[in-house]
Amino acid sequence: MFRSIDEAAKYIRDNGVEAVDFRFTDLFGVWQHITISAGEVGEETLENGLGFDGSSIRGWCEIHNSDMSFVPDVTSAFVDPFFRRKTLVFCCDIVDPITTEKYNRDPRNIAGKAVNYLKQTGIADTAYFGPEAEFFIFDDVRFDSSPQGAFYFLDSKEGTWNTGADEMPNLQYKPQFKGGYFPVPPMDSLHELRSEMVEVMEKLGIVVEAHHHEVATAGQVEIDVRFTDMLKQADIMQLYKYVVRNVAVKNNKTVTFMPKPLYGDNGSGMHCHQSLWKDGKPLFSGSGYAGLSQEALWYLGGIIKHAKAIAAFTNPTTNSYKRLVPGFEAPNKLAYSSRNRSAAIRIPIVNSPKARRVEIRFPDPTANPYLAFSVMLMAGLDGIENKIDPGQPLDKNIYDLDPVELSTIPSMPGSLEESLAALEEDHEFLLKGDVFTPDIIEIWCDYKRNNEIKPLSLRPHPMEFSMY
Ligand code: GLU
Ligand code: MG
Ligand code: MG
Repeated sequence: MFRSIDEAAKYIRDNGVEAVDFRFTDLFGVWQHITISAGEVGEETLENGLGFDGSSIRGWCEIHNSDMSFVPDVTSAFVDPFFRRKTLVFCCDIVDPITTEKYNRDPRNIAGKAVNYLKQTGIADTAYFGPEAEFFIFDDVRFDSSPQGAFYFLDSKEGTWNTGADEMPNLQYKPQFKGGYFPVPPMDSLHELRSEMVEVMEKLGIVVEAHHHEVATAGQVEIDVRFTDMLKQADIMQLYKYVVRNVAVKNNKTVTFMPKPLYGDNGSGMHCHQSLWKDGKPLFSGSGYAGLSQEALWYLGGIIKHAKAIAAFTNPTTNSYKRLVPGFEAPNKLAYSSRNRSAAIRIPIVNSPKARRVEIRFPDPTANPYLAFSVMLMAGLDGIENKIDPGQPLDKNIYDLDPVELSTIPSMPGSLEESLAALEEDHEFLLKGDVFTPDIIEIWCDYKRNNEIKPLSLRPHPMEFSMY
C-alpha cells in the first residue's frame, strides 16, 4: 500500500486512522497482533518497530532472552475490514532489538531469505505461487459422511445432536454424497457466504479468480486467488484465512482448514501452482514433457526427492495424513503427470508459455504458508542446482494400478512422525543460504512430537470404543 515510511506516517496522520495493528505469523501459522493507538505511531515507530515478549510465543525465544521487536513492512499495509475503529494493519518482521538482525525463527523472515536465495543462485529472480485452499464451512447441520450415513441436526431447545428418526428434516436440496462439485443453488447453499468472503477480499485488493463448492457433501468450498510473488502470496494467505474465518463467524458459521474433518468424504488440500521467472521471462516453459522446460523438470525432481521431508511443513498436522489416502482426489503417490489428479504433481494443460507451471498437490491448508512455500522453493531449487531427474511421468489413474506396479511408485509419508523423521534425515537443502537454521528443524520436530503427536496418541479415541 505504501512505498515509504514517510508515506505511511502521513497516511496515519491525515486519514482518520484511529489505531494501528502490528501483525506477525508464529511458527505454526497463527496470525498474532497488537493494537497501538494511532497517535503513538509516527516515523520512528514505523522505522524501529515496537517491543514485545517473545518468550510467550510458542517455539520462540527463552524467558531470559525474551525481548523482540515487530518492524512493519509498510508495503504490506491495509485497513482492517472488521474492526469498528479505522485500523491500519501492517505485516511485520521480527527483529532482535539489540543486534537489529531479523529473527531466524520468524517464518516471514525465512520466506524472505528463500526469495533472496533464489536471486543469489542466478537461476531466476521471481517465484510465483498460486495456492488453491479448500476448507469446510460448518453450521448447525451435520452429516455422518458415509453413503448410508445418518443425518444429524441440532435440537435448538435441548441443545443436543439428534438423528431425527421421527422428524427427518427435508434433504431435497442437499448435495448427494460426494456430489458437492458443483450444482447451482439451492443445492449450493454457500454461494452467498462465499460471495461475501470474496467481496471483502476484493476490497482489500486481493485478486480472486474463482470460487465454488467442492466435492465433499457437506460444506466444502474453495476460493482461488491469482498467483503472485511468493512472499506477498504468503501474506495474502494469512489475510485470506482471516477474512474467511471472520465472515463465517459474522454469519454464525464456523470454518475449518483441517485437511480431513470428515471420515469417508473428500478432504481439503492447498494445491500450490508455482513457476520461476527470470528477467520477465517464464523459465518453466520449454519443449519437454507437457511443454515444460528442463529447469521445470529438474525442479520437479527436487520436489519428488525431498517430498517426504518437506511434508513436515506442507502437511504439518496429525490430521494431514488422514487426507493423503487413495480415493479422494488427494495424492498419496509421488508421481507427476499432466492432467492426472491422482498424482502428487500435476502439470496443467495451458496454451500460453506464460501460464506454464507445475501444481504441487500434496500441501494442505493447515500449513504455515511462509514455511510451506519456502520448503517447496528450496526443494525445487535443489533439483535445478543438482539436475535431479524426476523420472518418467505417470499418465494413468494411480488408484487403478495393479499392486506390483503401484509398489514401484514412492508414497507420501503415512504419518506426521514419518515426515518429521524424514526431515531430520534430509534437510541440508533447506540450510543453503541460511534460509532455515538447524535450530528451526529441531524446534519444529520437538514441538510437533511433544505437543501434537504424543498428546493425541495418549488419548482414548472414539473409534477405539467402537472397535473394542
Ligand atoms: N479435495 C482434493 C484434495 O484433497 C482436491 C480436489 C481438486 O482437485 O480440486 O486435494
Ligand atoms: Mg479443489
Ligand atoms: Mg488444483
